[in-house]
Amino acid sequence: MKKLEFIKRSHGSHWVGDGFPVRGVFSYNDIAEQMSPFLLLDYAGPANFTPTTARRGVGPHPHRGFETVTIVYDGQVEHRDSTGGGGVIGPGDVQWMTAAGGIVHEEYHGADFAKTGGPFEMIQLWVNLPARHKMDRPGYQGITADRMPTVALALADGAGSVRVIAGRYGDAQGPAHTFSTMNLWDLKVQPDRTVTLELPEGHTAALLVLRGSIALPGEQIAREAELAVMERAGTQLSFSTQADGATLLLLSGEPLNEPIVGYGPFVMNSETEIRQAFLDFQSGRMGRIAASAAT
Ligand code: MN
Repeated sequence: MKKLEFIKRSHGSHWVGDGFPVRGVFSYNDIAEQMSPFLLLDYAGPANFTPTTARRGVGPHPHRGFETVTIVYDGQVEHRDSTGGGGVIGPGDVQWMTAAGGIVHEEYHGADFAKTGGPFEMIQLWVNLPARHKMDRPGYQGITADRMPTVALALADGAGSVRVIAGRYGDAQGPAHTFSTMNLWDLKVQPDRTVTLELPEGHTAALLVLRGSIALPGEQIAREAELAVMERAGTQLSFSTQADGATLLLLSGEPLNEPIVGYGPFVMNSETEIRQAFLDFQSGRMGRIAASAAT
């Protein structure tokens, strides 16, 4: 049975652009080693937006050396990038963007959502790339809700469900292509249940609480927007829900064990590579977003 290492509480809230009120749950500036291959997680919302005709979000900016994974729980996110990739994702959809060697993108609320307003909730997770893939061609996976299998939690009848975004739960295979071995699951667990998840030995393992709370080994409680980081040793992650049940995101993966040097939107393995990233962006080598056909 995996022991709890610690519970990471949000290091504060801030706005990303004018569209995303986020709680920074973790970043490679604080727990890089423990969370590898995951670099950063921002939890946006839950928040309520009033209707507007303005564009709310973040204008064109670059990334290099990793992937951004956007999971929408409520609301709508619209994305366009310098490879021509783009689209609108809504509740239940996931966007898996591989910045790799360099991409420029913009992230806004979807126009339809902006017009009506309403509840907004999403997660943006940064997933590191192994050094040998950091300069690969960029890519984009728009993963709609219907492509992700949702299965019952094993070993406990009616205890809840698992939606597999990446990796595998039992026979259920997630659709996301990844560059290292990982599991990314949405979990919904009924009140007062004990759940044991089987994970590969030696992998990073952490649970983010979105709703409700969970009791972990050692009687510690993780609550909303808190991340329970487990030890890597062992294959069984066990926790219990309380009277409210819980909605969770499981992050698990093989640690990369490579140096992390990041600055702003770039995460590489050395200072030299970061300097090169700035030069390449400034000289236009990460591309640009084509003029919009939309109005
Ligand atoms: Mn971005």
